[in-house]
Amino acid sequence: MKKYEAIRQQLLTRREELNRRVNKLANSARHIDEPLTPDFSEQAVERQNDEVLEALGDAGRHELVQINRALTHIEAGNYGICDGCGKTIPAERLEVLPYSDLCISCAEKQAAD
Ligand SMILES: [Zn+2]
Repeated sequence: MKKYEAIRQQLLTRREELNRRVNKLANSARHIDEPLTPDFSEQAVERQNDEVLEALGDAGRHELVQINRALTHIEAGNYGICDGCGKTIPAERLEVLPYSDLCISCAEKQAAD
């Protein structure tokens, strides 16, 4: 149970960081208090910025989903087991990609599909 405690802490820290970032992005993407500038060229730039912010937010949210899933697996005691073949995912892989739920060969197979 304590086997993955270090990874759990790492995931919790990362989750906090991402939550903060996603919230900040959500706030700066909103224009409630600052109406769009009447100048059209500036408006275009602002809209572009919004798209970048949204993309960043999506990536963050996607990572959060993966982190939450990994944390659930740690608590359930089935963390580090490959979703594809049911084998244990090597610790080196989990260190690099703590929320990975596929072993390397299954991940490669999936990428090739
Ligand atoms: Zn596998």
